[in-house]
Amino acid sequence: MIEIFTPTEVAKARRTGELVANILHTLKHRVTIGTNLLEIDRWAKAMILEAGAVSCYVDYAPSFGRGPFGHYICTAVNDAVLHGLPRDYALADGDLLTLDLAVLLDGIAADSAISFVVGTAKPEDLSLIETTERALAAGIAAAKPGAKIGDISFAIGTVLSGAGYPINMDFGGHGIGTTMHQDPHVSNDGRAGRGYKLRPGLLLAIEPWVMVDTDKLVTDADGWTLRSVTGSRTAHSEHTIAITEDGAEIMTLPTVTF
Ligand code: MG
Ligand code: MG
Repeated sequence: MIEIFTPTEVAKARRTGELVANILHTLKHRVTIGTNLLEIDRWAKAMILEAGAVSCYVDYAPSFGRGPFGHYICTAVNDAVLHGLPRDYALADGDLLTLDLAVLLDGIAADSAISFVVGTAKPEDLSLIETTERALAAGIAAAKPGAKIGDISFAIGTVLSGAGYPINMDFGGHGIGTTMHQDPHVSNDGRAGRGYKLRPGLLLAIEPWVMVDTDKLVTDADGWTLRSVTGSRTAHSEHTIAITEDGAEIMTLPTVTF
């Protein structure tokens, strides 16, 4: 299903997106060496409930995961990249952490992910994160009325492969709206000019992610967390955007300041 939203509904998406972004950036500000991943999950839960929002994750039970997720945020550390199930782990100096969050507010979902280093960062980790952010920016720049989904995929893939990273085609971006995951799928590589034509009112989650030296994932014993098969570092950057008459507007920009 592909949903097209009215300006009033896009305004709701803007509010959901702001909430998601503010939670993510509050968590980024609060996380330090020694913070436990379960503590991050509790903080996320408290902020979601306080805002009157509904978690898209806690009851989420897709075919590729084991049963309901049971937590409020994805926390992926180092070689873990997608669907990171929060666990009893205290973050160490230099850990590369990805937080991925989706909630519903007033019936409209937003989805965003950020990667950052806890404590002292290695230059190669910062470069990896910067590449996914640059790929995300390129994908967003390609998202405008009349363009095709393939234009977004091509823009993302050009940045990722240009930096020398392999690209996994199993998981990517997606339509979003009254539920978290909808058509169309937005691959992180593809051919320009192909696929669904973008139109104002379409909401998309665009999410380049990479593993340094492989495109193969392995699932943890927890049945959820996906890691690079080689144990290499990973990064992930995601925004929810709305296609507007003029181009794309990012829904998941934070307004909190510290
Ligand atoms: Mg996400
Ligand atoms: Mg997503």
